[in-house]
Amino acid sequence: MADLRTHFAPGVLTGQDVSDVFALAKQRGFALPAVNCLGSNSMNAVMETAAALNSPVVLQFSHAGAAFLAGHGVHAGAADRSVLGSIAGASHVRALAKAYGARVMLHTDHAAQPLLGWVDGLLDAGEAHFEQTGTPLFSSHMLDLSELPLEQNLEICVTYLTRMAPLGMTLEIELGITGGEEDGVENSVVAPADLYSTPEEVAFAYEQLIQVSDRFTIAAAFGNVHGVYSPGNVVLTPMILRDAQHHIADKHSTADPRPVDFVFHGGSGSTSEDIAQAISFGVVKMNIDTDLQWAFWDGVRSYSVQAAPYLQAQIGNPEGPDRPNKSHYDPKVWLRRGEEAFIERLQQAFHELNNVDTLD
Ligand SMILES: [Zn+2]
Repeated sequence: MADLRTHFAPGVLTGQDVSDVFALAKQRGFALPAVNCLGSNSMNAVMETAAALNSPVVLQFSHAGAAFLAGHGVHAGAADRSVLGSIAGASHVRALAKAYGARVMLHTDHAAQPLLGWVDGLLDAGEAHFEQTGTPLFSSHMLDLSELPLEQNLEICVTYLTRMAPLGMTLEIELGITGGEEDGVENSVVAPADLYSTPEEVAFAYEQLIQVSDRFTIAAAFGNVHGVYSPGNVVLTPMILRDAQHHIADKHSTADPRPVDFVFHGGSGSTSEDIAQAISFGVVKMNIDTDLQWAFWDGVRSYSVQAAPYLQAQIGNPEGPDRPNKSHYDPKVWLRRGEEAFIERLQQAFHELNNVDTLD
């Protein structure tokens, strides 16, 4: 295989750069962590980590996270709040990524059928951005229509990829059912067989999408679960990804023995062995929201314990009843503790994903 380039200018990666980074990831055996952000603390922590480790990252907004980012007081419907929040977040990242020296893919997470208006709004903004700058606002969007019958899922995905292709955007889709609960979709009680995609299903999706563009990724179900739960009956089975790759490569005689770029949803709580195996079968992106939510909270929590005597009132601490505590309760202090813990956990994820110093 030809050696792929490793130089990508700091900033938001779009178009061919996204495809090239995924190809590099497959060739070198690494994957990009995809981190859900809902404010400047998490966005900055992601850019800081990606720059420090000299490695590409996916920074993504969920529908609810984007609405939160816009703020509770915004006078707009739910869909519009998420559109506004996503645009505000993308603007923040676009303003700062270069200064951080971070290489970032801007992405939106799960959009189930009722949330398609959110993606429509972002594609309106994306087309306007493309007209002005020659690049789309976001690198990629995700549709999660896995609740629908497979044919219907792909029919809608093809429509979106057709609209996104002229902008050079990448579409992420979901097949099968990832267990657990995320963004209001509750899949905790489905039959175990439905938690695994088949090679034929993945092939069908591949065949539909490749007719429009090769810029797509597939989140297949291989026993992964959204969120962190105590071990149960669901067994993570990355072999499903391998079997799907073999099936498609055979059926279509593709030059690449692993023609599909897979995404690993519900990666939180996975062992490093599971992750390494999934990467070897073509996973190029892994979502790790839940573990980072905990890390941010744990940073704030441990600070509040450690500095407790200084955090009970504005005035008065163990050093004296008149001593001010401003330097302890200043949000810049305790939010930074959250950021630091988040960064430490995210660095661990980059290491587990074999994604350290992967770019020039
Ligand atoms: Zn998912």
